[in-house]
Amino acid sequence: MSNLKYCQGPDCHTYTTQDRLKGTKPNKTYQTRRRSSMYYGNHNFCDQKCLYDWVNKYIEQGLDHFGRTTEAKHLTEDNAWDKRYRWDYERHNGEAQHYYLNTITREQRPLTKAQYDDTNYTLNER
Ligand SMILES: [Zn+2]
Repeated sequence: MSNLKYCQGPDCHTYTTQDRLKGTKPNKTYQTRRRSSMYYGNHNFCDQKCLYDWVNKYIEQGLDHFGRTTEAKHLTEDNAWDKRYRWDYERHNGEAQHYYLNTITREQRPLTKAQYDDTNYTLNER
Protein backbone atom coordinates (compact mmCIF):
# COMPACT_ATOMS: atom_id res chain seq x y z
CA MET A 1 0.00 0.00 0.00
CA SER A 2 1.76 3.11 -1.21
CA ASN A 3 0.10 6.46 -0.76
CA LEU A 4 3.07 8.66 -1.41
CA LYS A 5 2.81 12.09 -2.91
CA TYR A 6 5.39 14.47 -4.21
CA CYS A 7 6.47 17.70 -2.59
CA GLN A 8 5.08 20.59 -4.66
CA GLY A 9 8.16 22.75 -4.18
CA PRO A 10 9.37 23.80 -7.65
CA ASP A 11 13.01 23.46 -6.61
CA CYS A 12 12.78 20.53 -4.21
CA HIS A 13 14.98 18.39 -6.47
CA THR A 14 17.75 21.00 -6.47
CA TYR A 15 18.49 20.70 -2.77
CA THR A 16 21.25 18.16 -2.62
CA THR A 17 20.45 16.20 0.51
CA GLN A 18 21.27 12.51 0.73
CA ASP A 19 17.61 11.50 1.05
CA ARG A 20 16.89 13.13 -2.34
CA LEU A 21 19.68 11.22 -4.09
CA LYS A 22 18.06 8.20 -5.75
CA GLY A 23 18.88 5.56 -8.29
CA THR A 24 21.94 3.46 -8.91
CA LYS A 25 25.27 4.38 -10.45
CA PRO A 26 25.75 5.80 -13.01
CA ASN A 27 22.18 7.05 -13.07
CA LYS A 28 21.85 8.69 -9.69
CA THR A 29 19.80 11.87 -9.56
CA TYR A 30 18.52 14.24 -6.94
CA GLN A 31 14.75 13.90 -6.96
CA THR A 32 11.71 15.66 -5.63
CA ARG A 33 10.88 14.33 -2.17
CA ARG A 34 8.02 11.86 -1.98
CA ARG A 35 6.30 11.12 1.30
CA SER A 36 3.13 9.67 2.77
CA SER A 37 2.57 12.79 4.82
CA MET A 38 3.94 16.29 4.75
CA TYR A 39 3.46 18.99 7.31
CA TYR A 40 3.79 22.28 5.48
CA GLY A 41 1.40 24.21 3.26
CA ASN A 42 -1.70 22.12 3.82
CA HIS A 43 0.37 18.92 3.53
CA ASN A 44 1.81 19.75 0.12
CA PHE A 45 5.41 20.64 0.94
CA CYS A 46 8.25 18.70 2.53
CA ASP A 47 9.62 21.71 4.38
CA GLN A 48 9.24 25.45 4.85
CA LYS A 49 11.84 26.24 2.19
CA CYS A 50 9.89 24.35 -0.48
CA LEU A 51 6.67 26.07 0.65
CA TYR A 52 8.24 29.52 0.31
CA ASP A 53 9.83 28.62 -3.03
CA TRP A 54 6.32 27.94 -4.28
CA VAL A 55 4.92 31.12 -2.71
CA ASN A 56 7.70 33.26 -4.18
CA LYS A 57 7.18 31.75 -7.62
CA TYR A 58 3.37 31.90 -7.74
CA ILE A 59 2.21 34.59 -5.33
CA GLU A 60 1.78 37.33 -7.93
CA GLN A 61 -0.24 35.06 -10.21
CA GLY A 62 -2.32 33.97 -7.22
CA LEU A 63 -3.08 37.49 -6.09
CA ASP A 64 -3.93 38.58 -9.62
CA HIS A 65 -6.16 35.53 -10.05
CA PHE A 66 -8.05 35.61 -6.75
CA GLY A 67 -8.08 39.36 -6.28
CA ARG A 68 -5.96 41.73 -4.27
CA THR A 69 -6.99 43.60 -1.19
CA THR A 70 -7.13 47.21 -2.32
CA GLU A 71 -8.84 48.80 0.67
CA ALA A 72 -9.02 48.18 4.38
CA LYS A 73 -11.39 45.49 5.58
CA HIS A 74 -13.30 46.22 8.76
CA LEU A 75 -14.04 43.94 11.67
CA THR A 76 -17.24 45.37 13.13
CA GLU A 77 -19.27 44.57 16.23
CA ASP A 78 -21.48 42.35 14.08
CA ASN A 79 -18.67 39.95 13.28
CA ALA A 80 -16.26 40.39 16.16
CA TRP A 81 -17.46 37.31 18.08
CA ASP A 82 -14.57 35.07 19.02
CA LYS A 83 -14.89 31.63 20.63
CA ARG A 84 -12.95 31.33 23.85
CA TYR A 85 -12.66 29.06 26.84
CA ARG A 86 -11.28 29.38 30.31
CA TRP A 87 -10.62 27.18 33.28
CA ASP A 88 -12.34 28.11 36.50
CA TYR A 89 -11.35 25.53 39.08
CA GLU A 90 -13.18 27.05 42.03
CA ARG A 91 -16.60 27.44 40.46
CA HIS A 92 -16.79 24.75 37.80
CA ASN A 93 -14.98 21.66 39.06
CA GLY A 94 -12.09 22.12 36.69
CA GLU A 95 -14.25 21.96 33.59
CA ALA A 96 -13.59 24.40 30.77
CA GLN A 97 -16.13 27.18 30.41
CA HIS A 98 -16.79 28.00 26.77
CA TYR A 99 -18.02 31.42 25.76
CA TYR A 100 -18.22 33.92 22.98
CA LEU A 101 -16.39 37.20 23.43
CA ASN A 102 -17.15 40.20 21.28
CA THR A 103 -13.67 41.62 20.84
CA ILE A 104 -15.03 45.14 20.28
CA THR A 105 -17.80 45.49 22.85
CA ARG A 106 -16.22 42.94 25.28
CA GLU A 107 -19.69 41.38 25.74
CA GLN A 108 -19.58 37.70 26.67
CA ARG A 109 -22.18 35.05 25.91
CA PRO A 110 -22.10 31.46 27.13
CA LEU A 111 -21.43 28.64 24.67
CA THR A 112 -21.95 24.92 25.03
CA LYS A 113 -19.02 22.64 24.30
CA ALA A 114 -20.89 21.39 21.22
CA GLN A 115 -21.38 24.94 19.94
CA TYR A 116 -17.71 25.66 20.61
CA ASP A 117 -16.64 22.60 18.61
CA ASP A 118 -19.12 23.20 15.77
CA THR A 119 -17.15 25.12 13.16
CA ASN A 120 -20.43 26.10 11.46
CA TYR A 121 -21.90 27.64 14.60
CA THR A 122 -21.28 31.36 14.80
CA LEU A 123 -22.84 34.56 16.06
CA ASN A 124 -21.00 36.49 13.37
CA GLU A 125 -22.84 37.85 10.38
CA ARG A 126 -21.42 36.40 7.21
ZN1 LIG B 1 10.33 19.71 -1.06
